[in-house]
Amino acid sequence: MRSRTYRSRGIVLRQYPLGEADRIVSILTPEMGKVRAVAKGVRRPRTRLGGNLDLTSVIDFAASFGRNLDVITEARTLGQNIEVRSDLPRLSLALYVCELADSFAPEGSRSRELFRLTLSVLDTLGPAPDPWLLTRWFETRILDVSGFRPQIEDCVECAEALKPGDHLLDLGAGGALCPNCRSLGVGGKIFVSESAMRVLRHLQRTSRSDELGTPTLRDSLRDEVEGILSRYIRFVVERDIKSADFTRRAVRLEGDANPQFRR
Ligand SMILES: [Zn+2]
Repeated sequence: MRSRTYRSRGIVLRQYPLGEADRIVSILTPEMGKVRAVAKGVRRPRTRLGGNLDLTSVIDFAASFGRNLDVITEARTLGQNIEVRSDLPRLSLALYVCELADSFAPEGSRSRELFRLTLSVLDTLGPAPDPWLLTRWFETRILDVSGFRPQIEDCVECAEALKPGDHLLDLGAGGALCPNCRSLGVGGKIFVSESAMRVLRHLQRTSRSDELGTPTLRDSLRDEVEGILSRYIRFVVERDIKSADFTRRAVRLEGDANPQFRR
């Protein structure tokens, strides 16, 4: 019989209120993927548990297995990214990083790479010379580690190497189209200018965040790159991740006697 409790290191990704005084906390762990557990009584003032479950914090926690949701019994903060917390723009990027990790994290299976990636980006957001670029790199890497890397070096239809120029990125096909294949593809095409493609490739080819450098990018180009990644990610999350997650949750929640969990 498996043990009724477990202990792990984790990153606090999200929190949702539950009932009068509780919260559901979503925690990214290296060995169990995303854990969603109830923290009881933490919305009352001055609780010891509540003070150790801040968003973006790295914690050491213990929980007991529940039929649907586990229950957190202990939590201790290991790291809090003080530099990020004192800077509102960086803090909002850190919260976004956590939200994205929450969308991509599998439940109940090992996700060491995603854990390491999220931890390293949260650690480097504070001192990062270009936090915007680091966040775009995180988006690119999370697509990589989750198996959704867009193909932007060769045409996704005919596999010819793409020549310099503007391109169309086909969301459904998961990559860029060469001029000959523009009318093909699965649908949901986004325009990618030559300059934006250069930035996207730089992000994809950079395996370590400290090798990103500090390229000078004009605001309109930043907006374009951010928009492309955001649309691509939204497409992947809605088509593949949310639907799979929903199916898993629906199966697990079937027959649940507690109406609070049914929402
Ligand atoms: Zn082609």
